[in-house]
Amino acid sequence: MIKENLLKIKERIPEDVTLVAVSKTKPNDAILSAYNAGHKDFGENKVQELVEKAAALPKDIQWHMIGHLQRNKVKYIAPFVHLIHGVDSPRLLEEINKQGKKIDRIIPVLLQFHIAKEESKFGFDFEEVKELLSSEAFAKYENIDVHGVMGMATFTDNEEQVADEFRALHNYFQVLKSHYFKFNNAFRIVSMGMSGDYNIAIAEGSNMIRVGSAIFGERN
Ligand SMILES: *Cc1c(COP(=O)(O)O)cnc(C)c1O
Repeated sequence: MIKENLLKIKERIPEDVTLVAVSKTKPNDAILSAYNAGHKDFGENKVQELVEKAAALPKDIQWHMIGHLQRNKVKYIAPFVHLIHGVDSPRLLEEINKQGKKIDRIIPVLLQFHIAKEESKFGFDFEEVKELLSSEAFAKYENIDVHGVMGMATFTDNEEQVADEFRALHNYFQVLKSHYFKFNNAFRIVSMGMSGDYNIAIAEGSNMIRVGSAIFGERN
């Protein structure tokens, strides 16, 4: 079923939307089913699981770190991670830059915004990001590259609310693009949308969706 689920989603989304298959808690053979169907982008939310899977699975897989990242664990994924979605503090960004410098790598990241009405979700608000991007510290970071923004909507059946939250994130993206990244073509990713809301997210401007259970089945 994994291959069928994957291909069905890929068929239905626009070509310029990247699908990250979220494989957290799922075994390597599930990942290989998707890989053997031609898929290369996978997302994990725990560093140890990500590192173990990356060591065991094909080297051309592009690993996305989508979960909350602790600073003391950045070093384990710095050499190979394809994109860190969950950058939610200046200190985390500083640490990613530091680890990138050690291994002479520029690490691609997304800035995570708090767009949901729920307390528990991580992320910056817009003012904090403007402050960060205007800071002297940020101007000196040579080993990170900000590729865009990421966010999670409130877990609710209220589709209008979800659409409003995604629209806010897309709007932040556009304002940041025109003020801070006008001449940086790498700043182009809006990572939003999961199994339950990726259609709404795409309608509101997402070009990267992170889909787990709709591909691999429910998690325990
Ligand atoms: C688990 C997770 C997803 C995927 O969730 P599904 O509802 O299974 O599609 C997407 N983004 C993040 C940050 C996640 O932790």
